[in-house]
Amino acid sequence: MSFLEYAPAPESTSILHLKKSYGLFIDGEWVDGRGQNFSTISPATEKKIATIATASPKDVDRAVAAARTAYDRVWSKMSGSDRGKYLFRIARLVQERARELAVAESLDNGKPIKESRDVDVPLVAAWFFYYAGWADKLDYAGLGANPRALGVAAQVIPWNFPLLMLAWKIAPALAAGNTVVLKPAETTPLSALLFAEILQQAELPPGVVNIVTGAGETGAALVRHPDVNKVAFTGSTGVGREIAKAIAGTDKKVTLELGGKAANIVFDDAPIDQAVEGIVNGIFFNQGHVCCAGSRLLVQENIHEEVVGRLKQRLSTLRLGDPLDKNTDIGAINSKDQLERIRTLSDIGEQEGGERWSAPCMIPENGFWFAPTIFDNVQTSSTIAREEIFGPVLSVLTFRTPAEAIAKANNTPYGLSAGIWSDKGSKILAVADKLRAGVVWANTFNRFDPASPFGGYKESGYGREGGRHGLNAYLKGAAK
Ligand code: NAD
Repeated sequence: MSFLEYAPAPESTSILHLKKSYGLFIDGEWVDGRGQNFSTISPATEKKIATIATASPKDVDRAVAAARTAYDRVWSKMSGSDRGKYLFRIARLVQERARELAVAESLDNGKPIKESRDVDVPLVAAWFFYYAGWADKLDYAGLGANPRALGVAAQVIPWNFPLLMLAWKIAPALAAGNTVVLKPAETTPLSALLFAEILQQAELPPGVVNIVTGAGETGAALVRHPDVNKVAFTGSTGVGREIAKAIAGTDKKVTLELGGKAANIVFDDAPIDQAVEGIVNGIFFNQGHVCCAGSRLLVQENIHEEVVGRLKQRLSTLRLGDPLDKNTDIGAINSKDQLERIRTLSDIGEQEGGERWSAPCMIPENGFWFAPTIFDNVQTSSTIAREEIFGPVLSVLTFRTPAEAIAKANNTPYGLSAGIWSDKGSKILAVADKLRAGVVWANTFNRFDPASPFGGYKESGYGREGGRHGLNAYLKGAAK
């Protein structure tokens, strides 16, 4: 080990008391699934963590029936302030078990422990605290007088922020008075199952939240179920489209949070050191498995060389490896399939003329890994400038004028987020105004707050999560 290298600092897994196998969490109890069991593995080692049940359509029926009964008999009759007490209790239990949840998340997902510990889990608690505060104030949310819950919410989430996406879904749904059946992604069910234990600890009435595990078929059975009133989905645009078709013609209310291909625009008057950190955070945070990742860097032509040079220098200092090591910056890619997709799209990027550069780093023998990679001189028409790679790969494009930057930023089928780096407030406001993106960050990137709405335009989906807007997605308008 050289003088400047860090000694390993692995977080202990002794805090985890995992079961060998997990069933479905329905009506406040653990029950067996009727589908084929599967394994959840650590993407960093490929070792099995636990056996997980698959919910068959009959199990989904049972979960929806439990949610309906809990809605009719308990949750819809409870006062907002009492619902709020349960949400506060859940938030505090998340804080109490924060370290354990962070370790479980990094183990199952592959993300660095410093991210699950310092970003994911604190935000999960913040989301529950925030919506706990709204539960008894719905009349004052500006959503009309006497807004009412929808009923049973079917929620399907992806693998990139397993516990955080769960919080984004469950917290507003419960605050607004709905009951829930949630399906986590098949590669990352663990933290949702630990969360079910937290619900038991919080003594949440049985059936208010049900968690069913399984793959796409379980998700399809859930969103198509005739007795659900609301569908909330976060995942790929392809599956979002299927869901929209499947529920067209029903009166289900729907929120779709889909993919993205965000532009991170750096003007020549930007503070370059901060911008470089922001570019790194924008695309290499969570291995680039981020829907709103700044995967297209639009840099003003006269500072292109300087920015790319500094970026390469900075990326050469990132440490890739064991997600449970507290020094790790870049963890494992979540699955073999995802790694294949990143490799395929990167090869296409090269074939289409992009100049490929990867940070020099040791790739561990087992597990799924991809070194932080930059493609320079990418054209707007290139596949890697248009398709979501969902990995640690940055495409670099240049522009000369603000108008060109705006045109290039908006030249995408997506519209989830964007970033602007400039010293001039007026320039930031003028450009932000013209970007077709749900979230625009200025001189920062990937900042999340429960009070701030989040969602997309175009193929990034519809509906908003977070803030008062996130409540609206789970309420019927004012009673006339
Ligand atoms: P995915 O669409 O493959 O899967 C998402 C979830 O849907 C999983 O739980 C999966 O089991 C389930 N599913 C699969 N087929 C289904 C079907 N036919 N009916 C119902 N459910 C089905 O997406 P993924 O690969 O898990 O996640 C990555 C995608 O999620 C990326 O495109 C990313 O941009 C997007 N994402 C969006 C946001 C946002 O807020 N906009 C946030 C995180 C991730």
